Amino acid sequence: MTLALFDSHMHTPLCGHAAGTPTEYAQAALDAGLSGVCFTDHMPMPAWYDAPWRMQQGQLQEYIDSVLAAREAFAGRLEVRLGLEADYHPGTERFVEGVLEAHSWDYVIGSVHYIGAWGFDNPEFVAEYDARDLGSLYRHYYALMEGAARTGLFDALGHFDLPKKFGHRDPDGYAALHALDVVAERGLSLDFNTAGWRKPVREAYPAPDLTRAAAERGIGFVLGSDAHSPQEVGYHFTEALKQIHDVGGRVVNYAGRVRHG
Ligand SMILES: [Zn+2]
Ligand SMILES: [Zn+2]
Repeated sequence: MTLALFDSHMHTPLCGHAAGTPTEYAQAALDAGLSGVCFTDHMPMPAWYDAPWRMQQGQLQEYIDSVLAAREAFAGRLEVRLGLEADYHPGTERFVEGVLEAHSWDYVIGSVHYIGAWGFDNPEFVAEYDARDLGSLYRHYYALMEGAARTGLFDALGHFDLPKKFGHRDPDGYAALHALDVVAERGLSLDFNTAGWRKPVREAYPAPDLTRAAAERGIGFVLGSDAHSPQEVGYHFTEALKQIHDVGGRVVNYAGRVRHG
């Protein structure tokens, strides 16, 4: 790849469900011909929220230190940035704000992984989709995504159409377009997340039609593999660039929470 491409969505073992050291992720990015990476591990949240799937607050410094060590080790060869994947869950905003203020981050993704108490992207709870009306599920989900965009806490929204992960597609699409209006109005970007190509839905987040709708609204896309192991770094980026460029979209990345590109 000749473009200055960044992979801006990847994890570390501190979240409890990823393998490989930050140095190994950085090496994989270098091998894939990328210009840089931004680590965005699952940030600490209040103790009652989703604790097994993220680093604990006492591990935050270890996370920062491990990413900064990789930055040092790859200086002059690969740019290594420090970010977070935050969860948006109503009631947790002040906690999240506190963590975001405690350090200087390059990039913060806001993701919704829960509708109420249901972790809808967890394969263990996939049967719940059968008990739901998909139309109202998606309306609820995109209302949360709009809430995330309106907090002003995040640079981009994560995996925009995540409830499709196991193949349960949005039956109408109006709520998604409305959420994109809010994303554009608030000046956020979208995480162009290639992990969807590794999931049953076999499609990136966002879908091609939503990629077009976002591009039409002037929303930028931040490339991310959502790697939970070094082999996933840069996953399907050629296809991602094609999907974005086919609709006239533009790729951006963040450093010091300032958007570039
Ligand atoms: Zn994860
Ligand atoms: Zn992620």
